[in-house]
Amino acid sequence: MSLRRLFFILCFLIIQLHSTACMSEKLPVIASIYPIADMVQQVGGDHVDVTFVLPAGASPHTFEPKPSLVKKFSSARIFFMVGAGLEFWAEKFINLAGPGLTTVVLSKGVSLIHTAGHHHEDEAEHHHARLGISGHESSVANPHIWIDPVIAKSMVNKITAALCEVDHRHVKYYKERGQRYLEKLDELDQMIQKTISTFGIRKYVSFHASWDYFARRYGLESAGVIEAAPGRNPTPIQIKNIVAMIKKYHIRAVFAEPQLNPRAAEIIAREAEVNVLLLDPLGGPNLKGRGTYIDLIKYNLNVMQEAMK
Ligand SMILES: [Zn+2]
Repeated sequence: MSLRRLFFILCFLIIQLHSTACMSEKLPVIASIYPIADMVQQVGGDHVDVTFVLPAGASPHTFEPKPSLVKKFSSARIFFMVGAGLEFWAEKFINLAGPGLTTVVLSKGVSLIHTAGHHHEDEAEHHHARLGISGHESSVANPHIWIDPVIAKSMVNKITAALCEVDHRHVKYYKERGQRYLEKLDELDQMIQKTISTFGIRKYVSFHASWDYFARRYGLESAGVIEAAPGRNPTPIQIKNIVAMIKKYHIRAVFAEPQLNPRAAEIIAREAEVNVLLLDPLGGPNLKGRGTYIDLIKYNLNVMQEAMK
């Protein structure tokens, strides 16, 4: 065999190997929270390998990342985050991952709700005040944008655009799936509108301000928030005020959240003689009925319906 011939055969083999590797290789992507990971999975389908940062049961507001998270970040090509202060821990991981990682901030361009002291201003300040009673908090953005399915559509558009930009091999595939998923979100939005139009009560008491965007979209109104800061129990005066509000507006339940200790909600519910129901802003891959973003929103709508119909 001539050297020339051998050279061509080798070239051919290398090209073959390379393209096979490329075709089977999924795009490694990381998302900060599970609902985003699910959206990315819905759009990316078989061509993405999605992981997420926040473990099941953790609250994004008190999350402490392990140093081993560096590995996940440096092997990912895209990091999808909410922004608006939710991922107060993320900056150093993004920096360590270097220029090979594209970071997409999904709250960009979204009209944010600003509340007194809601959520983190910086890493040191784990404050989340909503009642405004302590008075010293400044106005910061509420990061819980994904709870509104119409905002979720704008997030899905950003996800689709980023997947297409980083992974040229599957542009058509991502666009088609993205479009189909947007249609499902439209259906979800219409279903919610229909259900909420039957609610007899528009006011609710939530554990923390996770539901503000949902309330803004569908004309519901927060009458009070139980936890001024994650893990900080309300004062007796705050409890008294919330109980009075529940009675005044004939609210039938207070909403707790699985990621935060429900004790304060239970105390208030007992005082006001109403039920504690569980709303879940995050869901998880192994939670029955909350395993996808769409199912998660439907689950929460059902819980609300129980308390507000
Ligand atoms: Zn929150």
